[in-house]
Amino acid sequence: MAAATLGAGRCRLSKVGIVRRPPPARVRVAVRLRPFVDGTSGANDTPCVRGLDSYSLEIANWRNHQETLKYQFDAFYGEGSSQQDIYAGSVQPILRHLLEGQNASVLAYGPTGAGKTHTMLGSPEQPGVIPRALMDLLQLTREEGAEGRPWALSVTMSYLEIYQEKVIDLLNPASGDLVIREDCRGNILIPGLTQKPITSFADFEQHFLPASRNRTVGPTRLNQRSSRSHAVLLVKVDQRERLAPFRQREGKLYLIDLAGSEDNRRTGNKGLRLKESGAINSSLFVLGKVVDALNQGLPRVPYRDSKLTRLLQDSLGGSAHSILIANIAPERCFYLDTVSALNFAARSKEVINRPFTNESLQPNVLAPVKLSQKELVGPSEAKRARGPEEEEVENPEPLAPPASASQKFSSLQKLSSMDPAMLERLLSLDRLLGSRGTQGTPLLSTPKRERMVLMKTVEEKDLEIERLKLKQKELEAKVRAQETVDPKEKENCSPTMPRPLARRTVTVAKPLKKAVVLPLQLIQEQAASPNASIHILKKKSRKRKLEGLDATESKEKAEDCWELQISPELLAQGRQKILDMLNEGSARDLRSLQRIGQKKAQLIVGWRELHGPFSQVEDLERVKVMSGKQLESFLKANILGLAAGQYGSPS
Ligand code: ADP
Ligand code: MG
Repeated sequence: MAAATLGAGRCRLSKVGIVRRPPPARVRVAVRLRPFVDGTSGANDTPCVRGLDSYSLEIANWRNHQETLKYQFDAFYGEGSSQQDIYAGSVQPILRHLLEGQNASVLAYGPTGAGKTHTMLGSPEQPGVIPRALMDLLQLTREEGAEGRPWALSVTMSYLEIYQEKVIDLLNPASGDLVIREDCRGNILIPGLTQKPITSFADFEQHFLPASRNRTVGPTRLNQRSSRSHAVLLVKVDQRERLAPFRQREGKLYLIDLAGSEDNRRTGNKGLRLKESGAINSSLFVLGKVVDALNQGLPRVPYRDSKLTRLLQDSLGGSAHSILIANIAPERCFYLDTVSALNFAARSKEVINRPFTNESLQPNVLAPVKLSQKELVGPSEAKRARGPEEEEVENPEPLAPPASASQKFSSLQKLSSMDPAMLERLLSLDRLLGSRGTQGTPLLSTPKRERMVLMKTVEEKDLEIERLKLKQKELEAKVRAQETVDPKEKENCSPTMPRPLARRTVTVAKPLKKAVVLPLQLIQEQAASPNASIHILKKKSRKRKLEGLDATESKEKAEDCWELQISPELLAQGRQKILDMLNEGSARDLRSLQRIGQKKAQLIVGWRELHGPFSQVEDLERVKVMSGKQLESFLKANILGLAAGQYGSPS
């Protein structure tokens, strides 16, 4: 207990910076393209991906056939590369760090059938990373740990698999699901995991080969012995100093053959297989996030989100040396999984305007009806249906430069002969893209005869529009002719009678209704009024002229506003009435006047009470109840009303 507390204290110290940790290391990424292999569908295809140099590759962009997608990695190994190339180029250099007490990991990633197991394990003829690394490491430890050297070295191995987020000891599967723990120094350990000491390659094989048979495998459509679990080989190198201060070091090497990264829908996985794929893909998804976080230097790395990344926590990032080998296949039936594997592995990619092969995908891919039954049943069936002679003809050299224009129409055009499930996905995606834009005008896709009929209809419509325009012009001319006789008629016309519509200057756009109704009502009202001394109402801006009842006072005024002409007696009468109202009216009476609201009415009443009666209406301006302009409009608005007897006497 005391030791644990002490340990925890040390951990805290290291966290606050007494032991400064190196910044998280980036995960190096290599891509290996395997050659075409017998037995995979599309083995006779031309490739859909090709290397550019020892760092980059390009893949056809099926969405845009004028483009390729270029990816750059720490290393790219083409289909001609050997097991030794990969090992010497990407794995061997990190082994020496194990003897410095640092951790390392090598992960093979990619869809099932793309060559992960081949890369990691290989075959007796072509041994892969695991046997080569073990050989070298054992050799190295023998040399470094020899008698007389300062450090004594020992190597142990463990072998486990993570299957559906369960950790299973392949050297002792009976021990069940094991737990992953972290000690106070941040080392990841699995209590109860078997560790076998190995001193020679024969020792390794003795444990490894039977344990491999314990691996969980299951058939899928893609690969008869597809690995459904992540297989993790852990090799630990322990070092003890022979002389004081007798230091100890431990370096861990994880060699991991990851489960396939393929899309579930393509494998045709169902039930248990689909469940497996779900678990596999979720831990691969977290692995992707961890690699991204490390490579972007993010503060939080989501190691704990899956068993796989939790196990690798001390061997991915930190001072560890990690290499991810993304395995890809050249066949077009792998196209989508290849793109997704490359995207997983790539931190950056660029689009290049360079047709991968100068062909167009559109005609074949967008016209499923054109696919022959042979093409639809899949390439292998189609091949069987064809004769052997036909097969021979269609067997181009992989990556051979296109020699003629006809040969240029190669790989993507043949997408129609790919796996029907994938073809269906491509088609639905393309349909989606098509529906979002780039729709041709319907006219262009109409047959010639229909187009002719449409053109004729348009012509007829044009002619009719012309005819209507002419008719309109004629009518307008008629209206103008009538206008010219207008003045004579005006003189004969009784002022009380509404003018005939034809006498108005009207246009089609200006309806007559508004221009007529209101003024005529006013005129008639005035005619009915007992006071015939109010004569002209005119507003020049509206170009409206209303003649008063008295023909002698019907002259136009030039002001740009309503002009009121009232006889002087009426004016004096009106003024007097307003003055009476100001002096005797209550606030309520005053509010019945135009332009007098509550506030002004109170002001008037208040002033009157203090200073006595107003001597003239203009006093309103003097006592600042209203301005001169306001007074003017106040008078205009009220005198007419008062003269017409609209207001009652002050109460
Ligand atoms: P995975 O483990 O990714 O499912 P495998 O390693 O089992 O794929 O490879 C599938 C097939 O391809 C195997 O028959 C394997 O021998 C072959 N293969 C993979 N990579 C290569 C390569 N680089 N050269 C030759 N054959 C390869
Ligand atoms: Mg495999």
